[in-house]
Amino acid sequence: MSTDAEQTAVSGEAAGSGEAAGSGESAGSGESAARVNLLGLTREQLQAFCALLGSKPFRARQLMNWLYKRGCDRFEDMSDLALGFRALLAARAEIRLPEIVSQQQASDGTRKWLLRADQSQAFEMVYIPESDRGTLCISSQVGCALDCAFCATAQQGFNRNLSTAEIVGQVWLANRELGFEPAGDRIITNVVLMGMGEPLANYRNVVPALRIFLDDLGFDLSRRRVTLSTSGLVPQIHRLAQDINVALAVSLHAPDDELRSQLVPINRLHPIAELLEACWHYIDEQNGRSVTFEYVMLEQINDSPAQARALARLLAGRPAKVNLIPFNPYPGSGFRRSSDAAIAQFRDLLLRGGVMATVRRTRGDDIDAACGQLVGRVTDRTVVRLGSRVEAARSRVAGVQA
Ligand code: SAH
Repeated sequence: MSTDAEQTAVSGEAAGSGEAAGSGESAGSGESAARVNLLGLTREQLQAFCALLGSKPFRARQLMNWLYKRGCDRFEDMSDLALGFRALLAARAEIRLPEIVSQQQASDGTRKWLLRADQSQAFEMVYIPESDRGTLCISSQVGCALDCAFCATAQQGFNRNLSTAEIVGQVWLANRELGFEPAGDRIITNVVLMGMGEPLANYRNVVPALRIFLDDLGFDLSRRRVTLSTSGLVPQIHRLAQDINVALAVSLHAPDDELRSQLVPINRLHPIAELLEACWHYIDEQNGRSVTFEYVMLEQINDSPAQARALARLLAGRPAKVNLIPFNPYPGSGFRRSSDAAIAQFRDLLLRGGVMATVRRTRGDDIDAACGQLVGRVTDRTVVRLGSRVEAARSRVAGVQA
């Protein structure tokens, strides 16, 4: 028997992980029960909340304008709202941002913030400036239960889902930290859910956050500039195809099931063929351009020419591109980064095999802000990791069959 928390960690389906207008935040988020955090509400939910307060739905527009266009987090400063409404908001609502525990800046300008989730838990977000864009990499969970063999976050185990307000709050807070001004240029042009956690395992809180990122009254980001990265939760990819149109990135990391099941244990439940089918379905349903397949380059594990050719055979002729990620090491990982030459050759073979491929530049590694290096602070894990659960389930089955 798995607990509710375990279910939530892996499938995102358990009761209690959702949020609705007026119902407060998800259990365990440490937020006040009496006041609704407006950062957790989509436009429709905010309209419903305004109606609940006896106010007109258009107040939601004004509120979103203050919140997202002007970066205002104090009701008393919202000067075009009636005083009575402001007082009501102060009593019933709040604009609560994650609290910054610490921050660091890398030599390449990458910035990383450690944010408090609860007394003893923390998660991270990273800002990556480039000449033509500014990318914010945000977290969706405190820790992660998916147990990918090479990922530092996985070593932490899973603590809990972040609420919608905590996910949206990261972008809001980063804007403020980076000096956003109401009429000024965008500082954050891209948001990627590639920080701590498996976003599709926190479906109910992540999808409303995506809606707020895309909403023209919200952060008004283009759907091509909001990327959700998943390790491959197939049922949730199908569900996402019905719900929202964002850029999809999938952590593939191996061209065959035997290796992928070792590196990304969710593959034992949803093997490559099933995963790819879900990806093509997503592209069809959302009329998308392509899925980005992330492939971490691990020396002598998944970086041989034969593996590059096998990967090309899997993806050629499909709406797919591959992003090769040089492995970012951390103490005790047990893996090594492929050489630059091996990475270049791998990319070359993919291109020759008819598959678009790029190499991700490593950013922020001197402050452990690169892919897979985010660890936050995760104690009090409520959930065993997926790899060991799958193994336990397998040995139970083997025991019955013996
Ligand atoms: N849970 C999501 C987001 C993970 S982070 C997912 O699995 O897609 C984004 C990418 O970084 C993923 O492809 C992940 O597999 C990769 N990654 C994890 N650890 C890494 C490491 N140490 N070096 C390089 N990439 C890593």
